[in-house]
Amino acid sequence: MDYCVSPPVVKSLPVKNQKARFPVNRIFCVGRNYAAHAIEMGKDPSREAPFFFMKPTQAVIDASTPQSMDYPPMTNNLHHEIELVVAIGKGGQAISVADALSHVFGYAVGLDMTRRDLQGEAKDKGRPWEFGKAFAQSAPIGPISAVADIGHPADATISVTVNGQPRQSSNINLLIWSVAESIAQLSQYEALEPGDVIMTGTPEGVAAVVRGDVMHGQIDGLGEITITVR
Ligand code: MN
Repeated sequence: MDYCVSPPVVKSLPVKNQKARFPVNRIFCVGRNYAAHAIEMGKDPSREAPFFFMKPTQAVIDASTPQSMDYPPMTNNLHHEIELVVAIGKGGQAISVADALSHVFGYAVGLDMTRRDLQGEAKDKGRPWEFGKAFAQSAPIGPISAVADIGHPADATISVTVNGQPRQSSNINLLIWSVAESIAQLSQYEALEPGDVIMTGTPEGVAAVVRGDVMHGQIDGLGEITITVR
């Protein structure tokens, strides 16, 4: 196939205990999925229907080894959001909650990096969130653990430290919308495809990082990621 310009490189993540890599298709993110985070953002933590936003595939950083990310332009308030990441292995539309987990290939730990000032401005003005959320290198994600190896984690500590100091610490059992419920809801709106990933939302404790900071994120049983802001 001849292309008139260079086609984008396929973004992919390594899979533990497998040679083949997981190609990342689309990145869906769940908003406000832990009550304590909804409260810290000034929102009602009641169980309203989940909502979603997206990041471009090119936002992914393969964080299977310690990596750096560039401090993005046009912000003075770059926040970390540590999240459980779901890798979709089997596509489908209007998936039932009961069937949802059969569509999952595996899980990883990731960071939904956020230009909080731009997101806040977008909220105030009723504008899209893209410039706050969907920028280059805004989705560092660790290696994927396959369901075949680890099953479906539902109770595990999720945390991130910055320069060794605790920032966020919670448990994925506090997700307002479970992984299965999130897949079911999302697939009502959009047919899921193999390679899609879902970032499931962040617990409380989001805060700013600056150049030189080292973020260390972890989900027990899933591994860890280390990202230096440069
Ligand atoms: Mn998030």
